[in-house]
Amino acid sequence: MLSNYNQIAEYSLSGEALSREECLAVLDSPDEQIIELLSAAFRVRATHFGKKVSLHLLINAKSGLCPEDCSYCSQSSVSTAEIQKYPLLDDEQIIQGAREARQAKAIRYCIVSSGRSTGPKELNRLCRQVKNIKKEMNLSICTSLGLLTPEAAIALKQAGVDRYNHNLNASQRFYSQICTSHTYRDRLQTLQNARAAGMELCCGAIFGMGETDDDIIDLSLALRELQPQSIPVNFLIPIEGTPVASSLENHLNPLRCLKILCLLRFLNPELEIRVAGGREYHLRSLQPLALYPANSIFVAGYLTTSGQTPPDAWQMIQDMGFEIEQVPVSEMPV
Ligand code: SF4
Repeated sequence: MLSNYNQIAEYSLSGEALSREECLAVLDSPDEQIIELLSAAFRVRATHFGKKVSLHLLINAKSGLCPEDCSYCSQSSVSTAEIQKYPLLDDEQIIQGAREARQAKAIRYCIVSSGRSTGPKELNRLCRQVKNIKKEMNLSICTSLGLLTPEAAIALKQAGVDRYNHNLNASQRFYSQICTSHTYRDRLQTLQNARAAGMELCCGAIFGMGETDDDIIDLSLALRELQPQSIPVNFLIPIEGTPVASSLENHLNPLRCLKILCLLRFLNPELEIRVAGGREYHLRSLQPLALYPANSIFVAGYLTTSGQTPPDAWQMIQDMGFEIEQVPVSEMPV
C-alpha cells in the first residue's frame, strides 16, 4: 500500500488508478495528516488546472411536481418538504438567468428541470431557450433534464447544449436504497445517449446518504471509468421532509468531505471536479481548503437551497491566491 501521499500523487499523475486499499487509505487517513493529503491532491490539481477555479450558476427551471422517489430530493413524490413548485419558466426568465450567470463570472449556466424526463413540448421550449441564449452571449450551457432518449439528446445538441448533467449519485449496490422508480442502469443509458449525441458529460455523486466506504470507492471508480468532463460532488443537505433526512444521522464532517474530494482528485487527475451542493453546510469554515483538490464551484445557491453569493465566492478565491477562470470573450452581440 502506498503510505506516502506524495507517492499517491505521483501514481495519480502517471495515469494509474489507485487500488481499493489505496483508496481506503485516503478516505481513512488520520485527521492530523489532512495538510499533507491536501498538499498531494493540490499537486495533481495544479498540474492540470493551475490555480484556476471555474464558476457555475444553476437555475431551477422547473421545480417540484416530480413523480420519481429519489429519497434525498426535496422535489420528489415522497418528499413533504416545503419548497416552491412551478412549471417550466418562460423564455425571459431563462435568459435573465443566463445574464445573471455572466454577471456572476460563471463560465457555465446549468439549466435544471425536475421530473423523470422531459416531454416533447417542454423539450422544444428548452431548445428554443438555449438558442436564444447562444444568440445573445457566449456562455457554455449544461442541461439536466432527467432521463434522455437518443432523439431528445440529438435535439439538445442541435440547439446548442454543450454539456448534459446526469449524476450516478450512488454506487450501483447502494442505488436501489435511495431510489426505486428508476435504476442505476437507466442512468448509465442516459449518459450513453447524451455522449452519443456529442454532448460533454457532467456526472457526479451525492455523499452523506448512509453509504459505506466501499460504496464511495465503487462510485469513485465508476466515475473514473466513465470519464465525464465534469464531476459535481454533492454532500447531502438533509432537507426536512425528505426520507433520507429523517432516517439518517449526519456522518459527514468538514475533514471527511475534504478526504472524499482528495480521493476523487487522485482518481480523476484531469477531470473538472466541482464542490456542489452542501459545500457551505458541511465544509463550513474549511470551504476554502476544498479548492486544493477541486477546481470548480457553484455560486448563488442550489436548486432548493441557498448558497454563497458570487462576491463572497470571488473573495474566497482571491484570498486563497487562486483565480477565476474567465468566460471567453464573445464575438457575438451582447
Ligand atoms: S428525478 Fe430529479 S427531480 Fe425527480 S425526485 Fe429524482 S432527483 Fe428529484
